[in-house]
Amino acid sequence: MPEIRILSDQVANQIAAGEVVERPVAVLKELVENSLDAGAQKIEIEFRNGGKSYLRVEDDGMGMNPDQALLALERHATSKIRKASDLNKVGTFGFRGEALPSIASVSRFVIRTRPVSSNEGTEIFINGGKMIHCKDCGMPPGTRVEVSHLFNSVPGRRKFLKTEVTEATHLIHMAKLYALAHPSVTFTLIEGGRTVFRSPACDSPADRVREIFGRGLAESLTPMDAQENDLRLSGLLGKPGQSRSTRKEMIFFVNRRPVDSRTISYAVIEAFHTFVPKGRFPPAILFLEIDPAVVDVNVHPSKREIRFRDDPKVRSFILNSVLAHNRAMASPSSEFKPALPVVEYEEENGRQVPKIDSQALALFGQSKIIEESQPKSNSLQETPCPKEETIKDDQPDLSDGDNKKILPSPSSAEIIPRTMVGNRRDPGAEWRFLDCPHGDLAVFSTLQGVVALHVRAAYERVRFEQLEDSLRDHSSVASQSLLLPEPLEFDGIDRASLEVSLVKLRELGFVLEEFGRNFYRLEGCPHWIDPEYAVRYLHDFLEIARENGGAIQVESFVRQALERQVNYRDETKDDFSDDEIMDLANRLLSCRNPYVCPQGRPIYFEIPTRDFENRFKRKL
Ligand code: ADP
Ligand code: MG
Repeated sequence: MPEIRILSDQVANQIAAGEVVERPVAVLKELVENSLDAGAQKIEIEFRNGGKSYLRVEDDGMGMNPDQALLALERHATSKIRKASDLNKVGTFGFRGEALPSIASVSRFVIRTRPVSSNEGTEIFINGGKMIHCKDCGMPPGTRVEVSHLFNSVPGRRKFLKTEVTEATHLIHMAKLYALAHPSVTFTLIEGGRTVFRSPACDSPADRVREIFGRGLAESLTPMDAQENDLRLSGLLGKPGQSRSTRKEMIFFVNRRPVDSRTISYAVIEAFHTFVPKGRFPPAILFLEIDPAVVDVNVHPSKREIRFRDDPKVRSFILNSVLAHNRAMASPSSEFKPALPVVEYEEENGRQVPKIDSQALALFGQSKIIEESQPKSNSLQETPCPKEETIKDDQPDLSDGDNKKILPSPSSAEIIPRTMVGNRRDPGAEWRFLDCPHGDLAVFSTLQGVVALHVRAAYERVRFEQLEDSLRDHSSVASQSLLLPEPLEFDGIDRASLEVSLVKLRELGFVLEEFGRNFYRLEGCPHWIDPEYAVRYLHDFLEIARENGGAIQVESFVRQALERQVNYRDETKDDFSDDEIMDLANRLLSCRNPYVCPQGRPIYFEIPTRDFENRFKRKL
């Protein structure tokens, strides 16, 4: 193994992204990559409680002698690069020398490691960044890292972890991705004593898919392989007629590294254009091999996004090879015939949403919704499916709009919630809860008719206004510092937009320090943002600014950021109980805008009794 050395500060600063250890899955990724970099033939992963309480990665790789092991725990200690120019041809996974010390600083961390050349191993125990001991130990060659009590010493970080189930899902998915990309390595994944999968070294990704994703997926795919100059695309593509409602089974690797790449996914979707119904996605597991010097893996620090220097070339190569494969596969009879669409799929998250029936909407269009049942309803007017904009005109206090204050005036927020919602036997309640018959649909009876409420939409609205309130209450001061400052590199355009908005961004709580031309460090973010997404927010901000020719209203950005925050956070909310629904409805009715969710879709509407009478053609 090459010698490990400390990178000079200058080189460290030129590395435009830091490791991010925000969640257990990030720890897993770093440790598995280290094992792969160490030439492991066998990797065993074990975790408990979604990785929050325990995570172990063990390999039979080249190991380290005691000095190397100690050095590896120093920041910017890496054996993988020396000069900044090495960054252009990184062939290994890690190269920043930040992962081990970062992980060790927020956990109870034990590394045991032994090179083949030595008879003894070294055990180093670090607790919350403090070295407890370093001693000899007996062990087979290789390295074992155990991380327990992740973030226990950093409660602020711990609270942002999702449920154990969610974290476990991420861990399992990530382990599968690495296993998929490295069929020649034996992978074992154990969750709380139970083996999730064990996959011995095998020759082809197809065998791996069968072992770790199951027969179903394996049988819906066929192998493909194409090469053009220095580009090679291989892997598995959906057989004709195969399609999915989400992108979950579109999995891409570049040089064996799992990536999110719009270039690749758009090219694949386009190549499947006539083979898969609109709005559905082909299953595809693809490996792109490309000269590492023309791939920028350092665009988004913790994200898996990458950038190709010659994007159009990569795009057309992928498009053409997938298309050629599909044409060869598709016999005339097997070509896709469109089915009747009954549902739509949301663009961003692939969620299934019912197609809106315009006739049904028109039915309610003439009725004044929620008339006297609550005073705010006047502003809803005749619009059956109001968008945020429509409401805005009627309610000047609402928080969007560039020239308006981003937050409602205090008076509107001070409305004291009245108990307006009760159960069906509660005579005093204006809304009486009847049932939650289908998914997110809750039904209430009112004096004037029946209210249909979308529970999740209501939850989003309530949560959104809570966030708005907390933003107002703490504005311009409260920021939380990031566990690891994120180094960011900007090009001239982004830098210019950033400079224009810097003061405002800082007021909001983004702590951005300049350190060298085009280089910044993000050290903190507003308290209402999940730190995991802080960098993403900033990049989004700059992207929106770029699209607007450099100008963006910080307020409208904040609004978008809040909307997303609501979405990010509610994934984990399970079903609502009856009491929760009533409570939610009550809170909703004291919201500033109870009618539409933050994305502008309706939250509830009332069907007046007279509509029923019209349909029955007699009085009720
Ligand atoms: P990086 O991977 O970016 O170099 P890390 O903090 O992840 O930084 O690791 C620091 C160094 O420790 C690596 O460069 C490598 O030399 C050594 N190392 C880490 N994990 C292992 C392992 N599982 N086996 C052998 N060496 C390792
Ligand atoms: Mg590493």
